[in-house]
Amino acid sequence: MKQIILTGDRPTGRLHVGHYVGSLKERVELQESGLYDEIYIMIADAQALTDNAEHPEKVRQNIMNVALDYLGVGIDPEKSTIFIQSMVPELTELTFYYMNLVTVSRVQRNPTVKSEIQQRGFETSIPVGFFCYPISQAADITAFHATKVPVGEDQLPMLEQCKEIVAKFNSVYGETLTEPDIVLPGNKACLRLPGIDGKAKMSKSLGNCIYLSDEPEEIKKKIMSMYTDPNHIRVEDPGTVEGNPVFTYLDAFCRPEYFEEFLPDYKSLDELKDHYRRGGLGDVKIKKFLNNVMQEELRPIRERRKSWEARLPEVYELLKAGSEKAERKAAETLKEVKHAMRIDYFDDGNLLKS
Ligand code: ATP
Ligand code: MG
Repeated sequence: MKQIILTGDRPTGRLHVGHYVGSLKERVELQESGLYDEIYIMIADAQALTDNAEHPEKVRQNIMNVALDYLGVGIDPEKSTIFIQSMVPELTELTFYYMNLVTVSRVQRNPTVKSEIQQRGFETSIPVGFFCYPISQAADITAFHATKVPVGEDQLPMLEQCKEIVAKFNSVYGETLTEPDIVLPGNKACLRLPGIDGKAKMSKSLGNCIYLSDEPEEIKKKIMSMYTDPNHIRVEDPGTVEGNPVFTYLDAFCRPEYFEEFLPDYKSLDELKDHYRRGGLGDVKIKKFLNNVMQEELRPIRERRKSWEARLPEVYELLKAGSEKAERKAAETLKEVKHAMRIDYFDDGNLLKS
């Protein structure tokens, strides 16, 4: 069986370091592993419109931003096909057929949909399109016969829902669709990176992000103002490491060699954590160290992003070519789906056959 990756992001803002550790970094590793036959990376503009119907400009403007973020982290257009969701109308048609295989109560039970409805204040007025986005996500994944979907932890319920749709479709219409597996980051701190305000998730919609394109001064300002342990008031007070975002970021980004370079008094992150727990280690010292770490990690991404930004017509061309390639693939799958459902009336005069 071919090994195929499908994943993507909503163009609702520039991508941030949560996206990076939660999914982008993994994608680049998978891309470089050479184990995959095809890789599709989707800019999910149609999905973004499900809760931004009145802000199409915002979605449009962020398409280039997200494409540049992809190229910045090292997505290689020679190895991965980057495409725009709405340029592949087959995905919408697949969604329409899959809708018949899912109940309203099943979508209502999806914990990610539940929390997003709350977060967006949709309780009494949920747009139907937004409600159905897990089904459209199943269409995106299955249209490419994806076997692996590298995404953040909040996408687990979407993958479960997708697997159910695949099973249902195959049992009703015959073996057609491929069941995908989720690929989560191995590092626990990366599953759901908290915001700089200490909120559970760094998210474009919450405005608590360090963006991949932030300039060094902005990064520093954000890190120095980060939420830490609120009970760690004086340097000598014992501090809490668990749930402290400064340490979560260090868990996510720090490499052992950074100690020698920036904080030679300590040999490892464990040693630093122990000192913080005992007391006598100030937040400013740790934040300065974290700033050095983040500057090192983000500099090459920002520079590569800038070099692509200077060549926007090339980015435009690769998005266009990628969207065309993605459409060809999705059209093949749609044909298989319609054949399985026996709604391929005009292929070989099928309608005349019993
Ligand atoms: P929005 O607020 O518009 O939903 P978002 O910041 O949640 O934006 P998405 O485009 O919905 O971003 O998510 C893109 C990918 O990044 C998904 O795979 C998601 O699981 C992952 N992701 C998003 N935020 C985080 C985070 N804080 N930590 C780890 N992974 C994340
Ligand atoms: Mg999201």
